[in-house]
Order: sequence, then C-alpha cells, then structure tokens
Amino acid sequence: MKPDIIRKTTWEKVLNFIATTEERTPYLLIDRDIVVKKAQLIGKGISKAKVFYAVKAHPDIEVVRLIEKLGLNFEIASEGELRILKNLDVSPDRIISSNPVKTPHFIKEAYEYGIRYFAFDSYTEVDKLSVYAPESLVYVRLSVPNEGSEWPLSKKFGVEPDRALSLLLYAREKGLNPVGITFHVGSQCKNIYNWSTAIDKVIHIWQNAADKGIQLSLLNIGGGYPIRYTSDVIEIGEIEKLIDRVLKERFSEPPEIHIEPGRAVVGDAGIFVTSVIGKAERGEENWLYIDVGVFNGLMESIGGIKYSCVVGSRAEKKKWILAGPSCDSFDVIDREVILPEPVVGDHLLILSAGAYTISYASEFNGFPIPRTFII
Ligand SMILES: *Cc1c(COP(=O)(O)O)cnc(C)c1O
Repeated sequence: MKPDIIRKTTWEKVLNFIATTEERTPYLLIDRDIVVKKAQLIGKGISKAKVFYAVKAHPDIEVVRLIEKLGLNFEIASEGELRILKNLDVSPDRIISSNPVKTPHFIKEAYEYGIRYFAFDSYTEVDKLSVYAPESLVYVRLSVPNEGSEWPLSKKFGVEPDRALSLLLYAREKGLNPVGITFHVGSQCKNIYNWSTAIDKVIHIWQNAADKGIQLSLLNIGGGYPIRYTSDVIEIGEIEKLIDRVLKERFSEPPEIHIEPGRAVVGDAGIFVTSVIGKAERGEENWLYIDVGVFNGLMESIGGIKYSCVVGSRAEKKKWILAGPSCDSFDVIDREVILPEPVVGDHLLILSAGAYTISYASEFNGFPIPRTFII
C-alpha cells in the first residue's frame, strides 16, 4: 500500500512511530531527513542567493529549530512569529519581513530586535516604516502573474511598475533606504515561466530607478516552489536553473537574491496520521469521516489542494467523499478519493501535509489542533 509519493525510508519511520507511540490521532509527523535534503537543495542553483524560510508554512518551534540548525534564515510577518525566533535566539540579521502590510506594533518590535529588511507596497506602509523603522532597507512588492499557481497571492498585494517606482522614490524621501524589489509568483507554482516573466517586469523598474539615482541591489523572488501532492511537479533545480540564466541575461551586475520558500521546505516532509471515525452511505455517495478536517489541519483542501491518502486495508476499492469530524458542511476534504474500504479505527495517512496545515488549524467544534513530531 505504499504509493511512490512517499519514500521507503520515510514510510518505515512512520510505521515505526505509529507502532510505538501512545499518542492518539490525529498528529503530524515531519521527516527530518527530507527537511535536511530540501535545505541543502534550495538556493544552490542561483548565484548570490540567500534562503529565508517563510515561518507561516509551519511555525512549530521544533521544526523552526531544525531549520535554524540547518543554517536557513527566516521570513516573518507578526509578533507571534518573531517570538518563536526570539525564543531560539535567532540573530536579527537572519530575519526579514516581506508582508507588505504590517501592524505598527510588529514593525516597532521587529525594529527594536534589530530587523532591518521590510517589504512595502503602499504610501501608508512607507509612512509607518519611516516612523517605526527609520533608515531600514526596504523593497517594494511588485504584482506579477500567478497563472498556474494552486494558491494565488497576487490579488491581495503588489503594485504595477509605475507605482513601484513612485513608491521607491517616496521611501527615499522619507529617509528609508530603498534597496530592491520583491514579488511572489503564487504558492505551489507549477508554471516555471511565472519566474522569468516576473524578472522581466522587474528589470524595467530597476533601470528607471537607476535613472532617478536609486541603485537597487536586492531582488527578493518570494516563495512558490512546488511540492508533490498527487503527481510530479517541476524540480526545484530546474526552476533555479532558469531563474539563474534569466538573471545573468538581464542584469549586467546580478543582484543579491533572497528566496522565501515555505511549502517547499516542510511540505513533503509531513505525514498526517489520522483515524477513520465513521462511514455512511448517502444516496449514491460513500462518505468517509476522519478525525482531522478542514478546520483542524486541512484548510488548504477547500482552496483546491488535493492530497494523497493511504489506508492499510486490502478490501475492495471504492470512491469516497472524505470529510472531517466537525458538524460544519464546509468540512469536506476531498469529493473524489479512491481507497480500499477501511473500518472504523483504521489509520488513514495524508501525505505531503507538512505545510499550511497545523499553521491554519483551529479548535473549532472542540477538535484539538494535532501535535507535530519530528521523526
Ligand atoms: C507565504 C509567503 C512565502 C512562502 O510561500 P510558499 O509558496 O510557501 O513558498 C514567501 N514570501 C511571502 C511574502 C509570503 O507571504
């Protein structure tokens, strides 16, 4: 019953954990070896690249500690995320904040801690930064195509090139230090050309800024690297090869690069261990209920992320509607899962569940937020 989406070594560790733990389901297992591999891979294909883990993907302190030990830096958006890094004594020069709209209190606290890199995409944000984080190194968020990304981020943030240039000039006027440009191609981006299109868009602003006396030096390419959920995706090495080539073609002096992967660092290292809690026939439909759902861990399924599921049963395969434990009718994880019929109490594993699962979870309806264990 081992699908090829999970490696043999991970599979053995998962089965061993399940066999020996006293912990009740649901819980999330993170395979340390996969995180190590990802940390070694990401950023290696691009010259002058520094990698910042987007903490929101999975802010569990032990996971963050592991990533810290592996030498990655961090991207944060709130006091809560900053607190985790403070607890681990992470030096402020390893932390940036790329959320374009931050609370004044967060900016103040981040600045006091020593963080100096901040994104922005509005005049109001420049005003805030100039008061609470004077002279900081700021970079403007550009709007870029998000086509082919499963979790688009382009509607909420980003500006067009003309506005980006005006904002950089305004930031300089306000005593900030405008150093660069950022963009996000959308999360779980399966369209490799989103990165090259974005860089093409950047290059014009870069030149126009230089004409106005602003010498930019930093390009933050955001996150978006995809992981395998149910099928293969473009390799990170391929994406970085393209980015590196485009950078070398377009820039006479290649800029310093910041990359902010979240999903790609922890996503495919995570396995949700859940239990079947019920089954029902409703008309033609077979419903399967498990103890983790949309509200306590699988929120992304309502945005279109489809997970691979595994059960231990060898019974006849059926098509199921997979649903969570709460009484809310939104709590449906997938309307088309083919699985052998399990019995109540059987484990059901959900693969590639390390990112944007626990960090989204609530205790709605009294169901607990699953604990995370590193294996
Ligand atoms: C969420 C986020 C990321 C991480 O994106 P992934 O798609 O998980 O890699 C990076 N940068 C910013 C600004 C973000 O908001």
